[in-house]
Amino acid sequence: MDRWLEQPDLPARIHTLTAIECGDDCLPIYCFEIGNAKADVPTVIFTGGVHGVERIGTQVILSFMHTLFNRMDWDESLDAMLEDVRILFVPLVNPSGMLRRTRSNLNGVDLMRNAPIDATGKVPFLLGGQRLSRHIPWYRGRRDDPMEKEANAVIRMVESIVKESSFVISLDCHSGFGHQDQVWFPYAYTPDPFDDIGEMFALRLLFRRTHPTFSFYLIEPQSRNYTTHGDLWDHVYKQTLNTRKGTYLPLTLEMGSWLWIKKNPLQMFNALGVFNPVLPHRHERVLRRHQCLMEFLIRATASFRNWLPHPSDRREWMHQAIEYWY
Ligand SMILES: [Zn+2]
Repeated sequence: MDRWLEQPDLPARIHTLTAIECGDDCLPIYCFEIGNAKADVPTVIFTGGVHGVERIGTQVILSFMHTLFNRMDWDESLDAMLEDVRILFVPLVNPSGMLRRTRSNLNGVDLMRNAPIDATGKVPFLLGGQRLSRHIPWYRGRRDDPMEKEANAVIRMVESIVKESSFVISLDCHSGFGHQDQVWFPYAYTPDPFDDIGEMFALRLLFRRTHPTFSFYLIEPQSRNYTTHGDLWDHVYKQTLNTRKGTYLPLTLEMGSWLWIKKNPLQMFNALGVFNPVLPHRHERVLRRHQCLMEFLIRATASFRNWLPHPSDRREWMHQAIEYWY
C-alpha cells in the first residue's frame, strides 16, 4: 500500500480515514480521491479488503487505480470525464486483518457483520453473524458496543458523500465460494426489495445492453443467496435514506473463488488459496477481468441523468424489477 504514497506525482488527493493500532504498527486506512471535488458531483466509491483474507479485492482496486492514474498523465478524454464525476478508492478497509491473514479485524470482529442491524427471519447458522465468540468466524461484536473503528470510518465517509452528492454508486470487492462472479445489491438483512430497486434494474439493463459479452456476472439481491445480520451496506443505505440528496446504489462484487480452485485444486492447501487466485496467469486474468465493470460504473455515474428512470416512471421500473427478482 505504501508504494502508492511514495510516488512523487501521485495524481490523487489522499485522506486518512482512521488508523488501527496493531502491536507496534499503526495501520492507516487511506482514501484516494480523484475527479471533481465539488460536494454535489456524482460519485463512485470503490472499497476492498473488508475481509483480511480476501486480498484479491484490494488488488483488483489497486490494479484499476494504477491504470487510471497512468491514464491521467496522457488521456484527455479521461480528464474531461473527471470534470463530471468524483472517484474515491479505499483499497484496504481492514489492514490489521490483512496483516494477520484473518477474515476479521484485530478484535476478531467480522466488519461485514458488525453494523447494528438485525436480520428479519432466519439466517444461516454462524455464517449469518454470531455473538457466541470472537474465536469463531462471522463474529458480530458485543451487542450495544460501538461499531469497530474500521466500519465506523467507512460508514462516516460514505454517509457524508451520500448526503451531498447528486448520485452515488459504491462497489465493495470481495471473494467467496461462488461458482461465478456475482454483483449483489441490498438488502442482506431481509428478502424485501430496497427502495432503489427500479433504479438498480435500470442500471442492470444498461450494463447488459452496453456490455453483452460480460454476461458472466450474476446480478441480484444479496438476500437471494443468504441473509445476514449486521451488513455494513444495508446499514449505511438505511441510515441515509432520509438525508440523501439523490439515488444511492451500494453494490458488492463477490468474485467466485471456485472458478480458480476447480482449475487448481491444490491451492485449497494454501492458507490464502481458498479466497485468492494463486497461479500468476490466473491472478493477472482476475485483475483485468473486472476493469470493464469498474469503468462502466464510473461512466454510468458521470452520465446518470441519461439513463436513470424519471421520477414519474419510477413505479413502472419498480414493478418490472420486482417481477424479475422477487
Ligand atoms: Zn468478503
